[in-house]
Amino acid sequence: MEQVSQFLKKKGADLVGFCNCREYFPEYSSAVIVGVSVLRLFRKSQSDTVQVMNETMDLLNVHGRQFLYEKGYGAWGALFSQEDMPGRNVVPHRELAVKAGLGIIGKNFLVITPEFGPRVQFSTILTTMPVLPGPPLEFDPCATCSVCVDMCPTGALGAWFRHEKCIKCYTCVLSCPVGKDVHEFCSIPDLSEIWRTVR
Ligand code: SF4
Ligand code: SF4
Repeated sequence: MEQVSQFLKKKGADLVGFCNCREYFPEYSSAVIVGVSVLRLFRKSQSDTVQVMNETMDLLNVHGRQFLYEKGYGAWGALFSQEDMPGRNVVPHRELAVKAGLGIIGKNFLVITPEFGPRVQFSTILTTMPVLPGPPLEFDPCATCSVCVDMCPTGALGAWFRHEKCIKCYTCVLSCPVGKDVHEFCSIPDLSEIWRTVR
C-alpha cells in the first residue's frame, strides 16, 4: 500500500486512500481512491481547467493501474473523462473515499477532506491487491458549522439533499471553511465561474 501511495503521489496525487469494496464490486477486493486538489488543477491551467482535470485524473488512474499490473494484481478504473457518459459513472467515489478515511460527508452532502474541504476531485482504481482499510477519520467540522446550509440560496440543504432545488451555484463548495486551500481559493476572482468550469 505504501508503495502504491508513494507512486501515485509522485505522479501528482494529493490524497491516496485504501478500502475494501466487495459490497460494490465482488470481483475486486479493494479500492485505491486518488484525490487531487481543485485549486492545484486550476493553477496548472486557468484557461482550460476541464481538459487539465480530465487528463490529470485519467493519467493518475492509468498510471496506478499499470503499477498494480506490474506487481501482479488485477486492476480496473472508470476514466474520469468518461463519467458523464451514460452507464459509465459506476464507481461510488464519495462512499469509497469516506470508507478509506479520506473525508466525511458534510452538511453539503459532499466529501469534506481535512486538507481541501470539499474542493477535491476523486478517481478510483479497483484492484485485487489486498489492503488494510484506512482507520475511520476522527473529524467532524460540521458539528460546529452550518455555513453551507445558511448560505445555500435555495434551501436545498437540510436533513436531506433536495436535488430539485439545487441551481448548481456551488456556494456550498466555495463557502466551506475547511481546508488549507481555502484562503488562496477565496482570493481568486469569479470563483463560481472557475468551479463551473471544472465540474
Ligand atoms: S450548489 Fe448552490 S443551490 Fe445547490 S446545494 Fe449548493 S449552495 Fe445550494
Ligand atoms: S460549510 Fe461547514 S457545515 Fe458545511 S460542509 Fe463545510 S464544515 Fe460542514
